[in-house]
Amino acid sequence: MGNTVDSQTTLYGVIGDPIRHSKSPVMMNRAFRECGINGIYAAFHITADRLGDFMAGVRAMGIRGVNVTIPHKLDVMPLLDDLHESARSIGAVNTIVNDGGRLTGYNTDGIGYVRSLKEEVRSDLAGARVLIVGAGGATRGILYALAREGVATVTIANRTVARAEELAGAFRGLVPAIRAIGQDELRGACAESDIVINTTSLGMHPNVEETPLDSAWLRPGSIASDLIYNPLTTRFLAEAKERGCLIHGGLGMFIYQGAYAFEYWTGRPAPAAAMRETVLEALRSKS
Ligand code: NAP
Repeated sequence: MGNTVDSQTTLYGVIGDPIRHSKSPVMMNRAFRECGINGIYAAFHITADRLGDFMAGVRAMGIRGVNVTIPHKLDVMPLLDDLHESARSIGAVNTIVNDGGRLTGYNTDGIGYVRSLKEEVRSDLAGARVLIVGAGGATRGILYALAREGVATVTIANRTVARAEELAGAFRGLVPAIRAIGQDELRGACAESDIVINTTSLGMHPNVEETPLDSAWLRPGSIASDLIYNPLTTRFLAEAKERGCLIHGGLGMFIYQGAYAFEYWTGRPAPAAAMRETVLEALRSKS
């Protein structure tokens, strides 16, 4: 059943290039239906040269909320009126709230990831020793969110060590005992970690045979977490499970980054279980 559209309907959407693969519209429209909210959420294919035009359209049409994905997360920032601390610390925007013509940028990726990790595998992250493999945009968001959780140590391993060092430097004041290492030190770091997070794209469809590390290095009983949700269980996670680790996939991050956006826009708790069910259905019907 579709959302009812009338002259009171509030508009929302996601922008990106490409965008036709996005599961955000099915997820968010389900959330509106579930909560009886008169809203409709569409996907807009916006190329970089039309980003300014789109934002003028958001103001002109009073679009209440926008999600922003690749490649606009940075370039949209100067087109907004305010940046929430999350967007400023991370240096990227994935959610825009339009309050009566005043546009504020937020970043819900990292807090979405941590909410999912806490709900699905470890409710209290205090004292955890965390190893992050990868040092791209997603890692920045996760560091921002982990800074609030009282973790004991964070180690960032990356193929390009300079990127890991830059991130460790940027978050040194916020995250205690943060350090950067190269891939040659990965084995030793795995042995000393309670949670190992893959934030590289290794293992993502169609390269499902790739994996960021040798699962024999993982400590049985530790948590293996992957940001990738296509496939839902990556090779990294399947091997970690065999090794005796608790595993956590990337679907929850996607659901909860959307749940936070929904909550900022509507002031209502997001129906996370229904959102997950809809995205799972969409992923399954595709394969
Ligand atoms: P990004 O900024 O492009 O960073 C990619 C990272 O992967 C870098 O650290 C890069 O290392 C590393 N990498 C790529 N190919 C590699 C290889 N062959 N060997 C070793 N390292 C390699 O990407 P991102 O935006 O952070 O996204 C990272 C992953 O998270 C993607 O898989 C994305 O789909 C996923 N993600 C999921 C969600 C979700 O909602 N679940 C949200 C955001 C992102 P170098 O620095 O050496 O190049």
